[in-house]
Amino acid sequence: MSDLRHLSLDGEASLEVWIRVALDVPIEGLFDYRCAPGVAVGDRVIVSFGRRNMIGLVVELPSEPRCDPSLVKTVETVLKDIPPMTASWLKFTKFAADYYQRPLGEVVMPALPVALRSLSAYQGKRSAGGPVERLDQRRAPKLKSTEPSTAPELNAAQQHAVTLISAAQGFQPFLLYGITGSGKTEVYLHAAAKTLARGQRVLLLVPEINLTPQFEQSLRARLEPVAGPGGVAVLHSALSDGERLRAWLRVQRGEAKLVLGTRLSIFAPLDDVGLIVVDEEHDPSYKQQDGLRYSARDLAVWRARDLGIPVVLGSATPSLESWVHAEKENYKRLDLPARAREVTLPSVRLVDTRRLKMEHGLSVQLLDAMRARLDNREQVLIFLNRRGYAPALHCTSCGWVSQCPRCTTFTVLHRTTPGRHQLHCHHCGYQQRVPQACPDCGDQDMQPIGRGTQRIEEHLGMLFPEARVARIDADSTRKKGSAQALFASVHAGEVDILVGTQMVAKGHDFTNLGLVGILNADAMLFSQDFRAPERLFAQLMQVAGRAGRHTGHGEVIVQTGYPEQSVYQALLKHDYSGFASHTMREREAAMLPPFSHQALLSAEARELNIALDFLQAAKEAAQGLLQAQQTETLITLYDPVPLRIVRVDNMCRAQLLVEATHRPALQALLRHWLALLHDHPDLRRVRWQLEVDPLEI
Ligand code: ADP
Ligand code: ZN
Ligand code: ZN
Repeated sequence: MSDLRHLSLDGEASLEVWIRVALDVPIEGLFDYRCAPGVAVGDRVIVSFGRRNMIGLVVELPSEPRCDPSLVKTVETVLKDIPPMTASWLKFTKFAADYYQRPLGEVVMPALPVALRSLSAYQGKRSAGGPVERLDQRRAPKLKSTEPSTAPELNAAQQHAVTLISAAQGFQPFLLYGITGSGKTEVYLHAAAKTLARGQRVLLLVPEINLTPQFEQSLRARLEPVAGPGGVAVLHSALSDGERLRAWLRVQRGEAKLVLGTRLSIFAPLDDVGLIVVDEEHDPSYKQQDGLRYSARDLAVWRARDLGIPVVLGSATPSLESWVHAEKENYKRLDLPARAREVTLPSVRLVDTRRLKMEHGLSVQLLDAMRARLDNREQVLIFLNRRGYAPALHCTSCGWVSQCPRCTTFTVLHRTTPGRHQLHCHHCGYQQRVPQACPDCGDQDMQPIGRGTQRIEEHLGMLFPEARVARIDADSTRKKGSAQALFASVHAGEVDILVGTQMVAKGHDFTNLGLVGILNADAMLFSQDFRAPERLFAQLMQVAGRAGRHTGHGEVIVQTGYPEQSVYQALLKHDYSGFASHTMREREAAMLPPFSHQALLSAEARELNIALDFLQAAKEAAQGLLQAQQTETLITLYDPVPLRIVRVDNMCRAQLLVEATHRPALQALLRHWLALLHDHPDLRRVRWQLEVDPLEI
């Protein structure tokens, strides 16, 4: 009996129901309210919480509240402007909340477009009718009509992959392992078209960086004939609130048959999906780095299992996690071993920088190769994953180095306008004028240390005065649309030398790029993070894969002081599987993921000792739980340690790693542990958070 009948003061019978609501507040649990009948699970409601009103989601209709009914407040408004979120969607979000140990409200509310969860859209001055009605009254912007385009004929390997994906019955994960340029996109498009033709919908996830207008256009051109006009919806973080709401509503209303989006679209409101695709599944951008720290790739597999459908994870350099699943035959591996355009993979050369004279950080070999390509009217890409002008400024007489006053890091020298420089902290955003003289000794001979993309761009401009040099990094693409414009000019052949960070590495199908030069990749070699070599290798393979995609005879030159390292040796041979087997054996011997499961408790405080003490207390609490649960043999608790960059924005940071051989034991520990941590007496001085399956350690 969820209705409760009682007499109001004037003696009339009224009907009310209890509802349980998820709110986006950092407090464990759900919140009970009373509500007029007619409310459904999945509806949004406006409720008062503490001193303010907020929008929440009804997730249960309990038969009675968990607390004293006389204290339960009444809902302000039930919002009926969209259909309720479905049971299947709620089941999925509940799984995510449980798995990542976060309150349900922190999952369900951010998954909705801002306009549907912010009170101002409903109660502000301009709010007559609410955001959905206002949007529906406005005319939808006319979509640029796309010329339908035809598909190239698939090669045998592509055809085989499409056939197996389309024939899959029920849940079936595929690992589409295809070298760069092997035509994975064609496989997605064909498989998607088949699913759409069967009347089912498709969810296609891409990393943020891949979402170029070209890709969107070609997807529309290819799939709108099957999905119908307007049948493709795109969801990514660069959309305005209005654009996102419009696209999201088209998904919820079932108008969009194919949803293309970045990680958050794993929470898109569609249940009748017949296929999920995760392109570049190894890409770190699938992992959300704050709030709910979820992996969209891992959730995609769970969602596919729950819906009983195939899921395709595609990559030239799969994550070790997925590779091991394929080795164990949990995932079916589909190989695309050759480039689709019948061009060869680029040749790779390692240039040993220990024995060379360099000109502005560039070796003679690289400069000669650049000259040859430019003479041949081909484009050159110089990859350097370090933005700014130089990583630091220093004093040649006393050794002073520019440091951030708020962080234990150097400040990076940036050129703001031609001839003018500033020091920026990449960790806290602190900005400072370049001192005229050394703050310590007064000497005026201050010199930049090392090189960033701006400095390389400057040198290349001097070394190749006839060449048109462009730079693509987070600084040169700050304005909305500027990245698209820069890439468009590269594709149009208006750029001869492109200097860029990882932004240029992924996904782009350059037609006339002959040479890729890789500078300073060594910086990532000696990181303490056990995943660093895996990430470096993936990145190098991606960048290298930009060369010679259409013309063949591409070339890659890597400048390194450590050519003997296995990462570089594997790159020489384009040997992902050799690298993966080698890394897998290392991980297995050390019992590191994917052979164990991890969780990371991080803490920060004004003083390092406070953070460390908190973690030490947390560790002891966890030890107690392990004893009580008799899972000491399954779970290892490491000692709390300070982070390498210990202070950021005046907060000192430390972390505690938990490692388990048994996932359920880990989940059980975390659940009870969290409850204890929430009650810790030191919480006013410590900020902490728990991350399940951390990607960076
Ligand atoms: P990947 O995503 O595997 O790196 P793409 O899907 O970008 O590779 O394909 C690389 C290039 O090969 C693209 O220019 C694409 O149009 C082309 N291509 C893909 N499949 C075929 C095919 N079957 N025949 C001819 N060209 C193809
Ligand atoms: Zn000095
Ligand atoms: Zn700083």
